[in-house]
Amino acid sequence: MQEKKICYKVYSQYLKEKYGEKVYKIPINLPVTCPNRDGTIGYGGCSYCGEKGAGFENLSNCLSVEEQMRTNISYIQKRYKAKKFIAYFQNFTNTYMSFSTFKKNMREACIDNVVELSISTRPDCIREEYLSYLKELSYQKHINITIELGLQTVNYRTLEKIHRGHTLAEFIDAVLRIQKYGFQICVHLILNLPWDEKIDVVENAKILSALSIDFVKLHSLYIEKNTMLGKQYKKGEISLITKEEYVERVILFLEYLSPNIVIQRLIGRAPKEDTLFVNWNTSWWKIRDEIEGQMKKRNSFQGRKYNYLHGSALKKLL
Ligand code: SF4
Repeated sequence: MQEKKICYKVYSQYLKEKYGEKVYKIPINLPVTCPNRDGTIGYGGCSYCGEKGAGFENLSNCLSVEEQMRTNISYIQKRYKAKKFIAYFQNFTNTYMSFSTFKKNMREACIDNVVELSISTRPDCIREEYLSYLKELSYQKHINITIELGLQTVNYRTLEKIHRGHTLAEFIDAVLRIQKYGFQICVHLILNLPWDEKIDVVENAKILSALSIDFVKLHSLYIEKNTMLGKQYKKGEISLITKEEYVERVILFLEYLSPNIVIQRLIGRAPKEDTLFVNWNTSWWKIRDEIEGQMKKRNSFQGRKYNYLHGSALKKLL
């Protein structure tokens, strides 16, 4: 069988090379909220954030971390003969809790065959003592740590419009502090926010590259019912780009992105019944295939336009 040639750095392949076999992410759902929902930073959350957060595939958060891990692992082990796992704290803000609760949750996730903890949070919820504890845990348990930061866009005017409750500065601060501990960082971006243009897509790629981020997860904007964005959408106050334009934006983003950054996904997904708009009524994998097909056709690849760092204006003088 002819091997499929992929024009960007694919996460599943990266994991296989790093751990010697396929690794499965196990989602963990904690009973947490977010400072942008409970009034600490703002009420109601980011304009696109629904009641369930990001974890629609999760088990109930009434189960302990260990119960969720063991239940999911035993299912995946049977189904796929899986041997290695990443404990993925996915929903809402997983560092927004007391230090003692945080430590307990992290410890509980370190069961046999877990090779990594992946912790999703906001850039303004990164604190030194939490990072120090993770460092200690990673030594004790021989596991790697990845921090997933929601950013969505580097355009601070758009960040304000979607009520993120932080700007680019808090993101840069978080990245620099996490990197001192040697942890890897995954950044979430939405490439089709209604106020962003292609120039913002390019800047997203440039800033992630300049900061030597490790992973990126791209999402297409989906509009959930009962969200601020949903209301704006129903009133016709926002317009969305076409699927073809989204494909173009992803390709543009990848071309400007450092070839060292691993791509965890090219497009998001959400249950149809909860949304007013999702992925132009097209399966996520069809859009992924379209992006890959277009890149191949054009001889495009990740990093094709990655030539703007390291004093690039001096090149001709050397
Ligand atoms: S930071 Fe995340 S959890 Fe908090 S409101 Fe925004 S999208 Fe929702």
